[in-house]
Amino acid sequence: MNETPLARRIRALIQENGPIGLNVFWREAMTAPEHGYYMRGRPIGAAGDFTTAPEISQIFGELIGLWLVDAWRNAGAPAPFALVELGPGRGQLMSDALRAASLDPAFGEAARLFLAEASPAMQAEQRRRLAGVQPEWRPDWQTALAAVDGLPLFLVANEFFDALPIRQFKLTADGWRERRIDASADGFFFAAGPTGLPEGALPEGALPAPLADPPAGSVLEHAPERTALAAAISRHLAKYGGAALAIDYGHGTSRIGDSLQALRSGAPADALEAPGEADITSHVDFQALARAARAANAAAWGPVDQGAFLIALGAEARAAALKRRASAEGVAAIDQALRRLLHPLAMGSLFKAMAFTPTGASAPAGFVMETR
Ligand code: SAH
Repeated sequence: MNETPLARRIRALIQENGPIGLNVFWREAMTAPEHGYYMRGRPIGAAGDFTTAPEISQIFGELIGLWLVDAWRNAGAPAPFALVELGPGRGQLMSDALRAASLDPAFGEAARLFLAEASPAMQAEQRRRLAGVQPEWRPDWQTALAAVDGLPLFLVANEFFDALPIRQFKLTADGWRERRIDASADGFFFAAGPTGLPEGALPEGALPAPLADPPAGSVLEHAPERTALAAAISRHLAKYGGAALAIDYGHGTSRIGDSLQALRSGAPADALEAPGEADITSHVDFQALARAARAANAAAWGPVDQGAFLIALGAEARAAALKRRASAEGVAAIDQALRRLLHPLAMGSLFKAMAFTPTGASAPAGFVMETR
């Protein structure tokens, strides 16, 4: 059989332990040393498997930079403070954010920049784009948050939560069973695992339909690492102050459904077929993040649709200013990029923004409602 080194490694793991959870497969496929998807090269951008908002237009990162300055001022402009980005990709968002934030030089002077990035290849890209500002890198969110312990935190994460591994459970005649991944001569496939749901897989209290009474065959997704991250950020904010912004594709209320997605060279692919060759993500359950934040004594805001969020922050005014200095072609490109970011049929409503603050803080820019 013609298997990649990473597929051989996962097969060995299954032979040793029996069928593995989707989260274990996912973690290996994406961040295994050397052959994991993110470790190999440059999957983001026009030449990569997918394009993210900061790669579409400078306006995205600029508005987030202004959001961070505004949140920092509202918190009393603490100095020094930790500026953290989780999963900065090619570094475009932070580069645009810092340029916009330089309107208030005190912000840059007080900031200590930490980037959480698993991939050495991505780190190298970030180093190039952020040459002037000397960030510090940590390989994961846990060590990045530990490194800024004691400091007020202003954090941004674009398409990071959706990249963290999930587990899936399927409702069978025997009740909920985990979907585990097994291997045969033909490759990897889903097999029914142990029965029962882990603690926290369903929200506590009265459940809304269809969570309360799901039809047979339903798939329930559970993302313990995502809620652990939301909880860790929230504990930090409750203790030291600050604000955090997460932007991802997903839904505002917990629901039933299989949202596992793999993309290879921009086209949908089978998530199990060629581990390390395709980007794997799934929808973020923002309600689960908000629950984790509240349990950690912080407040969650939104989520609001990306389009509405960027318009509230002034996307259209910024585009108009850029267009005044652009050629006819430049004007068309700006309009097209803005449409991709804002329009409900593009990224505007599938992608959503959620903010986290200490309890009692005023609404961060672009948000109205605290999540209850
Ligand atoms: N925020 C960027 C990139 C999103 S892709 C953008 O919007 O363009 C996800 C990013 O997170 C990549 O940089 C990837 O290498 C990194 N990453 C994925 N899983 C990670 C993990 N567990 N720890 C640290 N970084 C991770």
